[in-house]
Amino acid sequence: MVKSKKDGTGPRNFRIATDVVLAGRAPFKFEGFVNTPIFRGSTVLSPTVDQFLGHKGRYVYGRRGTPTTDALAEALTQLEGGAGVVLTPSGLSAITTAILSVVKTGDHVLVTDSAYNPTRNFCNTALAKLGVETTYYDPVIGSGIETLFKPNTRAVFLEAPGSLSFEMQDVPAIVAAAQKHGAATIMDNTWATPIYFRPHEFGVDLSLEAGTKYLGGHADANLGWISATEQYWPQLKDLHGTLGLCPGPEDVFLSLRGLRTLAVRLERHMTSGLKIARWLKTRPKVARVLYAALEGDPGHAIWKRDFKGASGLFSIVLKPCSPEAVAAFVEGLELFGIGASWGGFESLAIPFDCSKVRTATKWQPGGPTVRFHIGLEDPEDLIADLERGFARLNSN
Ligand SMILES: *Cc1c(COP(=O)(O)O)cnc(C)c1O
Repeated sequence: MVKSKKDGTGPRNFRIATDVVLAGRAPFKFEGFVNTPIFRGSTVLSPTVDQFLGHKGRYVYGRRGTPTTDALAEALTQLEGGAGVVLTPSGLSAITTAILSVVKTGDHVLVTDSAYNPTRNFCNTALAKLGVETTYYDPVIGSGIETLFKPNTRAVFLEAPGSLSFEMQDVPAIVAAAQKHGAATIMDNTWATPIYFRPHEFGVDLSLEAGTKYLGGHADANLGWISATEQYWPQLKDLHGTLGLCPGPEDVFLSLRGLRTLAVRLERHMTSGLKIARWLKTRPKVARVLYAALEGDPGHAIWKRDFKGASGLFSIVLKPCSPEAVAAFVEGLELFGIGASWGGFESLAIPFDCSKVRTATKWQPGGPTVRFHIGLEDPEDLIADLERGFARLNSN
């Protein structure tokens, strides 16, 4: 539950599904229209020289914010429960901005070995060039992370569950170690969204997400956001302004629209995801299902302790078979597209291999791996489609 404000009624407590409907909306600021309109603009005029020179207006320049971006940032601030939210043009720019906001040359950062691969690429290239050293750590290290801190460790980057491989992380244990060593914690929370996990409640300093995924929810927008606690908010806001990051107005509007249905969409992604994951677990060709919401998953206990729900993204490990058989399985699927990104209304399936990118841990799943995004289609149709896929796999 977070505090919510409806026009004129003052702060009230609502549950999260109500909050996503109300947050950041003020119809009577816009002649009663339910949605905040798209403000397009660079120049903002001032009525007087004094107002212009003193930056005294509510808005000063399009890049620095509009009523549309304010509506989304305000809504997300409410959902995250931090001190403030900045919007970025993509999830990746949210990652890079969050990291840059807490480090300087000579610092050291700890990054989970299961991080989204472009996060690693940023650390290994741009961040290294600035003289910031990265050590990757085993995602399931928990309080064992303690031994990896150096005197110059400034930040710990978490992502749970891990990209593609879906290891859960013991967030409270990692946060406790980071706090002891005075390091900031940054978490990529794209999988759960604040509906199912709120990083600040677990002591995380900077919570970020690719709004491109579930917030937008329709595979038609790119957006990221970062939420910071009181302590980290001033430096985050400063750097965000310095870098000149501003998402396009259309994408901000689509994200606001996505927000209104986020809770119901996620509920459907979860129930269908669980149903299909349980079914997959019974298939003879499936060795393992990597989905913390599933009983028996190594991350299930932590997921149950900390998370309020699961989204519709998980992977499977197939029993050993040829790449041709995997391709026949995936390519023939009628309802699962082959493509990057996820979080839209449609189902996706992609083969993947993490073994070449890992450095702190070995990725040896024992067979080919496929990641699924379970969309909003009828799960029975999805199961029937996958069943035909296994028939193709078997005959290859
Ligand atoms: C997709 C993704 C991102 C990046 O989002 P973009 O908007 O595509 O830049 C970041 N983190 C995770 C976990 C993702 O899956």
